[in-house]
Amino acid sequence: MSKAVSRAAWVMIGLALVATGLHMFEVSSVSNDLIYLVATMQVFVAVIFGVVVNKPDRRVWPALLLLIAVLITAQIFDNRDSTTGATQAISEALFLIVQLVLVVGLFVTVQRRFGRDPINVVFDSLIIGLGSWFLIWVVFLNPAREISQDIFSVTAIRGATLASSAIVIFLLATLLFGDTERTPAVWLASSAIVCSLIGDLLYATNQSGRFDISTQIANAPYITSLFLVSATVLHPSVSTLASHSARRIKQPLLSRLVLTTTSLVVPVVVLAVTNPTNDTDRAVRTVSIFILAAAVTARVIFAVQANASLQARLIDSAQTDALTGLPNRGLMIEYVAASIENARFDGCSPTVLFVDVDRFKNINDSLGHSAGDDVLVSVAQRLRVALPERCIVGRISGDEFVVLDAKSKNQSDAVLLADMVLESFHEPLALRQGDVFVSASIGAAVLDREITSTADDLLRHADTAMYRAKDAGRNCVAIFDKSMLERVNQRLAVETALYRALERRELRLVHQPIIDVDLGDVIGFEALMRWDMEDGTNVSPAEFIPIAEETGIIVPIGAWALLEALTHLRGWINQGICRRDATMSVNVSPRQLHDPNFVAVVNEALMRSRMPAEQLWLEVTEGVMITQPEQALDTLRRLSEIGVRVAIDDFGTGYSSLSFLQRFPIHRLKIDRTFINELASDANARSLVKTIIAMANSLGLDVVAEGVETVEQLHALGDLHCSKAQGYLISHPVTPETMASTVAGLDKIGKWPRLRPLK
Ligand code: C2E
Ligand code: MG
Ligand code: MG
Repeated sequence: MSKAVSRAAWVMIGLALVATGLHMFEVSSVSNDLIYLVATMQVFVAVIFGVVVNKPDRRVWPALLLLIAVLITAQIFDNRDSTTGATQAISEALFLIVQLVLVVGLFVTVQRRFGRDPINVVFDSLIIGLGSWFLIWVVFLNPAREISQDIFSVTAIRGATLASSAIVIFLLATLLFGDTERTPAVWLASSAIVCSLIGDLLYATNQSGRFDISTQIANAPYITSLFLVSATVLHPSVSTLASHSARRIKQPLLSRLVLTTTSLVVPVVVLAVTNPTNDTDRAVRTVSIFILAAAVTARVIFAVQANASLQARLIDSAQTDALTGLPNRGLMIEYVAASIENARFDGCSPTVLFVDVDRFKNINDSLGHSAGDDVLVSVAQRLRVALPERCIVGRISGDEFVVLDAKSKNQSDAVLLADMVLESFHEPLALRQGDVFVSASIGAAVLDREITSTADDLLRHADTAMYRAKDAGRNCVAIFDKSMLERVNQRLAVETALYRALERRELRLVHQPIIDVDLGDVIGFEALMRWDMEDGTNVSPAEFIPIAEETGIIVPIGAWALLEALTHLRGWINQGICRRDATMSVNVSPRQLHDPNFVAVVNEALMRSRMPAEQLWLEVTEGVMITQPEQALDTLRRLSEIGVRVAIDDFGTGYSSLSFLQRFPIHRLKIDRTFINELASDANARSLVKTIIAMANSLGLDVVAEGVETVEQLHALGDLHCSKAQGYLISHPVTPETMASTVAGLDKIGKWPRLRPLK
């Protein structure tokens, strides 16, 4: 139904052309009066249909109905050319009412459709409205007044109708100049109004007696207008004609400029080439031009103001952080550079503090990003309140803030300042979500011309010191000194060397046997990576694995380790060194699990080593379940579907929640060696291990104790029914070449708990 009605809208445009043509060329078989009557009646029917089907805004349709009612009455009383004054006056009054209803309707529509920048749109439209008014006055109203012989009221009403055309033009311009979407209904309604204005002008021209335009031509625009009104109400977009639209489109700037300039230039030209004919004319011209000039002046002032404020906003947004309103990185660098420059003269040593909110990622992950934003805003506020006024606080990225004290003298001033920052975090931050405690790691760098020459240097040094504070356990201050630079350089060297380690064959694997104490058998091995650098230094995995993770090198290195470890196991099985069902445990870092190729890498390693998936254990830490758990979960699920098993390494040291343990496809817990260490001596550690074992049993998980160093620990584990263990007591990690003798030695021992400690 609504589709048919919307099609009818377009049919109406065709009918408009046909009817207008018939009217203009006065085809003898059709009387013009009949065309006029049909045009008026069809509007009535179209409005009823349009209101029922398209349901336009409730404010629009009463205006529409009123418009139609008046149009019909005007049609019935169409006696504009009558000679009797009274009927003529009624007829003219009805036309004036049509115009006024139009003004009201347009006003309602326009004020609801205001978009951005309404002031400039209104002033541009005002200039066009005033320009039109000026022309209407000079061309029609003033001459009509002079030659008028008929009853004053008729001329006055006619004048008022014409004068109100200027208001209609003003409102129409406002409707079309804004940036609110111009729907088909807007265009159709505007065209209808323009046609009716043309009709008014033709009529007025006729009345002026200067030209004689036949009624069939003069009335034709009204016919077009009536059919366009129907098209408007039938088009579905009429339902949003008077509603706010969130969609913004480009403003028609060029046509706006052309129309506004024309409306300004034409009256000025008319003023220059014609003379006022009487005093009233002079007064009206003067006042009109004065208002026009005032409107143009106001328009220019507003434009300049808007431009200036836009520029100010642009500069502001380029230099400040939108969330906290603090200076951003660029501006902070400028401040620091200026303070270094000034320090040459005032003898100060500017201090830069690098403040990093501890564990901000956890806050974001657990409380959500809007809470994270609130934390940053509160931290910004805290810093501003806690620090002396001379300090400048900026936010340079994520959770990193920078404080500049351009007037500090030495390191002790820097320490004092950093302490103020630390102290400011003693009180919790009051967020919408409740109170939250945060701490910060602070790096401080004081200008030292020997090692600092630019603002970048000073910021980088503070950043380096901040990382030292993080390493030292967070929530503390570290002051930059030269030795830190050496450390950074050293780390950089390790990083570069690590890139080449794989191709230079500097990496190798050692393996630590895992035994079943009850059976007295080696049931598997854990592969551990070793790096012998070119110059002979051995870098511990605790040092290079984190770097490899940060830089992403862990992905190729980890893939190599997988294949290498499985190949070793395949060799030992083939040589009869270990049981056929012995397993290989390979450590896997979170970064590897987030690599989309990881499952394929594992598959390939299994295939190339011809090892069944069931004999591969992947060891992941609890952290995997906390950062980006969804992706890791997906990878682990796919792996466990093919038979690979997953162990949680260093269990008890992370933050894994029980729900995570249930959601993840986990098959083994490896109890961290810190608990095993104290097992024999500390009752608390003992009950903790007991709980972990009970939990693992109830979840159907396998348990391995890591880092078993003494027989007492092994006995204690036996008491707790944990039979799988690895540790220095059993064997240190050994090279693949010595594995045969290591396993043989272990096999000779047999069942463990009955034996004495190994030497
Ligand atoms: P992890 O996976 O928990 O490995 C056990 C670590 O404890 C190994 O240190 C091992 O040598 C050591 N260990 C074994 N038994 C004992 C004991 O009885 N007492 C003591 N004090 N230590 C024992 P390692 O080889 O230095 O490895 C450290 C960590 O580096 C590993 O901890 C693992 O997280 C990581 N890692 C090692 N190799 C790889 C690898 O190929 N890939 C990845 N992603 N991480 C690896
Ligand atoms: Mg491990
Ligand atoms: Mg471990």
